Amino acid sequence: MIGAGHTGLAVSRCLTERSIEHVVLERGEVANSWRHERWDSLRLLTPNWQTRLPGSRYEGADPDGFMTMREVIDFISGFAVRTGAPVRTETPVTSVTQHDEGYLVATGNGEIRCRTVVLASGACNLPSVPALRAAIPSSIEQLTPFEYRSPGQLPDGGVLIVGASATGVQLADEIRRSGRRVTVSVGEHVRLPRTYRGRDVLWWMDASGVWNQRYDEIDDLTRARRLPSPQLVGTPERLTLDLNTLSDAGVELVGRLAAVRDGRALFSGGLRNLFALADLKMDRLLDTFDAWARTHGRDDEVSPPERFAPTRVPPSSRLELNLASGEIGSIIWATGFRPDYRWLNVPVVDRKGQLRHEGGVVDAPGLYAIGLPVLRRRKSTFIHGAEDDARDIVEHVAAYLDHRGLAGHQEIEQ
Ligand SMILES: Cc1cc2nc3c(=O)[nH]c(=O)nc-3n(C[C@H](O)[C@H](O)[C@H](O)COP(=O)(O)OP(=O)(O)OC[C@H]3O[C@@H](n4cnc5c(N)ncnc54)[C@H](O)[C@@H]3O)c2cc1C
Repeated sequence: MIGAGHTGLAVSRCLTERSIEHVVLERGEVANSWRHERWDSLRLLTPNWQTRLPGSRYEGADPDGFMTMREVIDFISGFAVRTGAPVRTETPVTSVTQHDEGYLVATGNGEIRCRTVVLASGACNLPSVPALRAAIPSSIEQLTPFEYRSPGQLPDGGVLIVGASATGVQLADEIRRSGRRVTVSVGEHVRLPRTYRGRDVLWWMDASGVWNQRYDEIDDLTRARRLPSPQLVGTPERLTLDLNTLSDAGVELVGRLAAVRDGRALFSGGLRNLFALADLKMDRLLDTFDAWARTHGRDDEVSPPERFAPTRVPPSSRLELNLASGEIGSIIWATGFRPDYRWLNVPVVDRKGQLRHEGGVVDAPGLYAIGLPVLRRRKSTFIHGAEDDARDIVEHVAAYLDHRGLAGHQEIEQ
């Protein structure tokens, strides 16, 4: 197993249940991403009642609250201890190659030979930043969400945030509240209200079965896997954080960053269409929830259906911004994340850096993956999505070992 985030630990727990010998190799500490790659104020956008791993769930006094990073780290670390996961920390995997009928895994602490490898190294190892970052004048400080910690670290001047998914809207809100001028460049996004008909919107995703939808039931899987994260934030006040909230707070909205030319950022027009599309998709999802409540006799448990004000289009949105004028002091690239497989020397990664796999069964014998977007279900990258995927993947691992007469025995050698 490579990676001691929540998905690697969930798989480890399921392997232990079946007495399948394994080790979990972690380059840093347990829950490393949550310790070192998140900003200070971040809370989960998934509610506490949803924070669960195999045989372990949130049991505190605030099931509807949202965990701070410290609480997430404690939850995952506690799980690792309780399950006795065989984690080797500070053990970076530097290469994985096919060897005999298995794999040779080189680490910072020596080599391991094994029959099967599960890649649980994360979907968000590197920030995805467009190539046009190279054309940004050097007077402007550029940060990725991995480098951003809090508004206090930003240089003087306005802040341009590129991207309006969960990260972009959360950072825009926090930086605006700190008193800065904030401009958000908006591309394709997924709008969601925090609560709907009196319940958390993620309760609806769960109860209606939308989040459980399997990868082989989804019409356009490639698109589903590329979908940006929803505009949601976890706050004690259960705030909805959409583009209308940001506009009300004084954040300027501009179109997609299309080019940087002669020190000027050029934005696409067409905000109206972009907003209308996101509103339409949100309404369709709410229709799905309403239909589910009706057909499952749940209408009386929740308040009546509601619809939300359309996203307001600014009267005139700028199409360009002079980056040399001093108006903008920093740019934050909230343009998504991608996995890092530079150490994987098995020909299973496509030209776009994506792993070739069928529901986590990678295109090489004995190689598996977990924790990638819509790996086996729509909920695959979320904490509560790990359990079902881990059980399925371990089922595959067990069948693979059985088939080779190695039931439960990985033949791990060092
Ligand atoms: C900003 C942000 C906010 C999120 N908010 C939520 C949320 O509110 N709710 C929710 O359910 N999900 C959330 N997620 C999504 C989800 O929980 C993450 O995608 C999650 O971290 C995936 O779990 P994982 O265990 O697969 O990967 P990770 O947690 O990234 O764990 C992978 C582990 O592998 C290790 N590793 C990587 N490469 C190597 C190597 N070569 N050798 C050894 N070890 C290696 C890493 O150090 C890391 O510890 C969020 C993600 C991000 C980025």
